[in-house]
Amino acid sequence: MPRLRIQVQGVVQGVGFRPFVYRLAHELGLGGWVQNRPEGLRIEVQGSGPGSEEFLHRLQAEAPSAAAIHSVTCEPLPEAADELGFQILPSENQGDRRPSIPADLALCPECRQEILDPGARRYRYPFTNCTACGPRYSIISALPYDRPRTAMAAFPLCPDCRAEFENPLDRRHHAQPVACPRCGPRLGYCGPAGGPGPEAEAALVAALNLLKGGGILAVKGLGGYQLLVDASSQAAVQRLRDRKGRAEKPFAVMFPDVECLETSCVVAPTDLTVLEGPAAPILLLPRREGSPVAAAVAPDNPDLGAFLPYTPLHRLLLGDFGGPLVYTSGNRSEEPMAIGNAEALARLGDIADGFLHHDRPVLRPLDDSVGRMEEGVLHLLRRARGFAPLPLPMTGPSVLALGGHMKSTVTLLVGGQAVVSQHLGDLDSPQGLALLERTVTDLLAFLEVTPQRLACDLHPDYGSTRVAEALARRLGLPLVRVQHHHAHVAAVMAEHGLQGPVLGLAWDGSGWGPDGTVWGGEALEVDDTGFRRVGHLCPFPLPGGEQAVREPRRSALGLCLAILGEPSPAAAAFSREELAVLCRSVERGINSPLCSSVGRLFDAVASLAGIRSGAGFEGQAAMALEFQARRGRGAGAYPFPLKEGQADPAPLLGALLDDLRRGEELSAMAFRFHAALANLALAFAEAAGHPQVVLSGGCFQNALLSKLCQERLALAGFRVFRPARFPANDGALSLGQAWAASRIPLEQ
Ligand code: ZN
Ligand code: ZN
Ligand code: FE
Repeated sequence: MPRLRIQVQGVVQGVGFRPFVYRLAHELGLGGWVQNRPEGLRIEVQGSGPGSEEFLHRLQAEAPSAAAIHSVTCEPLPEAADELGFQILPSENQGDRRPSIPADLALCPECRQEILDPGARRYRYPFTNCTACGPRYSIISALPYDRPRTAMAAFPLCPDCRAEFENPLDRRHHAQPVACPRCGPRLGYCGPAGGPGPEAEAALVAALNLLKGGGILAVKGLGGYQLLVDASSQAAVQRLRDRKGRAEKPFAVMFPDVECLETSCVVAPTDLTVLEGPAAPILLLPRREGSPVAAAVAPDNPDLGAFLPYTPLHRLLLGDFGGPLVYTSGNRSEEPMAIGNAEALARLGDIADGFLHHDRPVLRPLDDSVGRMEEGVLHLLRRARGFAPLPLPMTGPSVLALGGHMKSTVTLLVGGQAVVSQHLGDLDSPQGLALLERTVTDLLAFLEVTPQRLACDLHPDYGSTRVAEALARRLGLPLVRVQHHHAHVAAVMAEHGLQGPVLGLAWDGSGWGPDGTVWGGEALEVDDTGFRRVGHLCPFPLPGGEQAVREPRRSALGLCLAILGEPSPAAAAFSREELAVLCRSVERGINSPLCSSVGRLFDAVASLAGIRSGAGFEGQAAMALEFQARRGRGAGAYPFPLKEGQADPAPLLGALLDDLRRGEELSAMAFRFHAALANLALAFAEAAGHPQVVLSGGCFQNALLSKLCQERLALAGFRVFRPARFPANDGALSLGQAWAASRIPLEQ
């Protein structure tokens, strides 16, 4: 057997791949070495007998669960004469490629077993981890990723842990956060007033008793504080809603194990792979009839955001509790999560009844990721823990993109990769803006780069735009303002490596249009040079502007005034005084911007169909319409003609009002509306004539709409590209901005 040189590419660094290779080579009696290199992992092996072949096979079959192998190439080499066993060579990091920042990894099966084993050294130790699992991004202060540059720097290893850390045959070899009850972080518990309290196992017991009594527990998790409460108690969940100021927005639920999860949700095998995988996100799953989960957890919602314990601490807490727990970020609505112990007491003291904390610092807030499986493919709705900040290959000059205003993220394009930050939340609060600025500083320091250009949205009032402007002045850098829907389409082109031209359908709530109107129902032709607006929804006025986001009835009124010239079908939702004021403001064009937004059209239709006149959170009316439509499949479609690039909603409105007069089923009307939009997507695609069609924007978080559009377009021969690893919503704007800004030639 000759010597082999093996090149492995993909997510293979910071996931325990080198120790795995070492152990495998050792077991098979092979000589050679393994090395981290800028382009991936390089291995050379040689040995007598069939060992090398088995090595090659098992390298792929038994790779660490957090690794994602994109390619393995192999070439024969002449045999080396004096091979001294197998070694892990020091990393080689040179050239333009930057090291990647590893993402946090969920508790692995081996560590899970270990904490439940009464004979093990780490029995019930809540900070157990190994090279295949544990905190990464949430504890790293600088690169390269080594213990002294993590939140574990303050915990010197005990001799037992050091022996494991240094032994290449141990699964904790070079596991930077390795710890045990003797040398690692410790749990503590206190009431809302703070002060000393029970520690370690006693702290867990105190927390458990609080939960069992229906109390609200703040837990310092992997990426910050979370609030937990008994999910089967309607009263406890309602108390959490009242104290948190969160009226109706669904909560996620953590289940102790798969068996318990299956009593509440319908779980497919592909769902399980993701739920139990290294990222362990929240998945939206269909809820079962008779689930023990209280109605207040996700009111009027047929789905449940569900997940499994992803740290040893959660595994112990949930296992002891023995049932599902509501699990939500430790914040007031729309503010970033608390991460420090003192900060948590100050900010959550009047929400939580008790605090389960520990002494390992959390260096940056990381929310839980949220996704949905569609045809076996994970579509992320929120990209954070477990996924951020893993890079996406992308070429171009270095760009720092500041993203949008809601669901904000930051992207740094450098050295052939785009690093997209975790979900940072909304930028309305000073804390939100501070987090955005800190994340920028963080990423620039991690990757040791000064970008060549900055990018932001066209909207002058986005918090991110103001931060970008200040940064551009300070660093003396050019600032590229990327139109909102252009960025939505570009993000999907970046994800799928598309060159263009493509037809991009960017449908969302709102984005700043260069013509001064609110865009959101756009058909854009996008390529390297920029975008061209080839079509859009006929504009209608939004009485009260931004206020319409939380009041779908305003969109209904604007649509009726624009099409029918009178408020009547939408009027019933208003008092006579309100109506008079709003009609006058539309007539005079005061605070009633024109919008071409599909999101607002969803609101208008939902409101007219009587689904709701108010919305507790953005998109609630549209979601309610989607849930109705799921039950109305096959009901046909409303007419939605396209005339010279403009989609005319007048025939649709007419048919909807006819249905309402006839007392048609809500589900049928909701489906006809969805199907009308899918037909419209096809009409846009046929008019544009590009074989590649991109679907993006917040409206495509709607799984039914996405599916109908995709089917319609694919049947007609178009290739359809949808966001999956990055969200369809504004969470991907920074990625799209980076892609677009890197391709624009700059006049010097
Ligand atoms: Zn592990
Ligand atoms: Zn130890
Ligand atoms: Fe958007």
